[in-house]
Amino acid sequence: MAESEAALARAVLIHGPLSRRELTTRLGLSPASLTRLAKPLLDSGLIVELDDIADGSIGRPSRPLDISRDVGSFIGIKLTGDRMFAVVTDIRAEAVASLERELRDRSPDAVVDTVVSAVRELGVGDLVGVGVSLGGVVQGGVVHGASFLGWGEVDLRDRLERALEVPVSIENDIVALAEAERWFGAGTGLSGFSVITIGAGVGYGLVVDGTVVRTADAAVGTGGHLPLDPYGPVCSIGHRGCAQAMLSAGSITSQVGAALGRVVTYDETLELARDGEPAARAVVDAAGDALGRMISLATNLSLQPAVVLGGEGVGLFEVAEHRIRAAIAAARDPQAEDVDIHVDDSGFRAWARGAAAVAIQAAMARLHPAR
Ligand SMILES: [Zn+2]
Repeated sequence: MAESEAALARAVLIHGPLSRRELTTRLGLSPASLTRLAKPLLDSGLIVELDDIADGSIGRPSRPLDISRDVGSFIGIKLTGDRMFAVVTDIRAEAVASLERELRDRSPDAVVDTVVSAVRELGVGDLVGVGVSLGGVVQGGVVHGASFLGWGEVDLRDRLERALEVPVSIENDIVALAEAERWFGAGTGLSGFSVITIGAGVGYGLVVDGTVVRTADAAVGTGGHLPLDPYGPVCSIGHRGCAQAMLSAGSITSQVGAALGRVVTYDETLELARDGEPAARAVVDAAGDALGRMISLATNLSLQPAVVLGGEGVGLFEVAEHRIRAAIAAARDPQAEDVDIHVDDSGFRAWARGAAAVAIQAAMARLHPAR
C-alpha cells in the first residue's frame, strides 16, 4: 500500500476523529485525493465514518473519520528484574485489563514461560499482536543484553512467536515509552520532546522531528548518571549526586529512612514531604532541584523545549513542582522558549502501554509496509 494511504491511517489513529477538512489540511491533500485514499481503508474496515456532526459551518455537515474500534486487541508486557506486568489494550493503547507476575526465575526459558502463560490467561480472543519492553539493548527482536535480567544474547521475539503464534515486537523500554507518548500520550502533536522517567531508575529518551532517537546510547539511557548535585548521595556505581542517586525511588527512600531510623516507602516519603516532615522535605526538595536541573540540561542541549515526565516515581513532580520550575528557570537562557512540561501520571502502567504501542505500530506497518 502507498505511503500516503499509510499516512492517512496513522493520522486518523493518532489524531482522530478528524473531519475531512482537517485531514486535507494536515496531510496536504486535495479533497479528491483524500476520497481516493480513504476508500480502501473504509472498505477494509480499518477506518470508519462517524455520524454527521453539525459544526455550525455552512455547507455539508462533515462526517469525521476515525479508526475502527473493532480492529482487535493488543497486549503490552513490561519486564523488570523481578516482575512482569501485562496490559490488554485497544488500538489506541488504552488499557482494558492487566495482570502482574513475580519473576522468581529470570532465565530466558522461565521468563518466556511466564509471558506465554500470562498471554494465555488474559484470554484475548481478537489478539492482533504482543509487544514486550525491557531495559536493555534490543535490535530486530533480539535482546543483546539486559543487565536487570542478567541476560546476554536472547532471541526473544522468535521464541515468543513460536509459542504464541501471533506477531511479537520487542523493544527497549524507554524507546517503547517514548513511542507511546509520541503516538498516544502527552507527546501527541509535539514534533520533538525529551522523555524523562523516574522510578526504580532514571530513564532518558528523545524525540526529534517526530522520530524517536534509537542509537545504542538510547538503549543505555545515558541520562541516568548525569551529575546533578555535587553534594548529593552516591549512586550504585559511585557517582556523587548523579540522576540515579538524586531521583531513583530507592535512593530517595533510603535517605529518608536513614534520617527517620525506619523503613519508608516511596509514597509515604512523598506524603511526609507534603506534610512538611523536615527530613523528607529536604530530600524531596533536593530531588526537585535535581530534576529541574536534569530537565533544563535535556531541553537546553536537545534544543527541544518540551519534556514528558513519566514512570512510577512521577508523583515527585506534584510535591516538588515549585522547586523543579525554579531550577529550570535558573538554567535557561532568558531568550529561550518556556519549557513545556507534560506529566504522564499513569505510573508503572505507562511502561506496559509503551510495549503495547510498539505492537500497535508494528501492526500498522504490516497493514502498510511502506511506512
Ligand atoms: Zn550514577
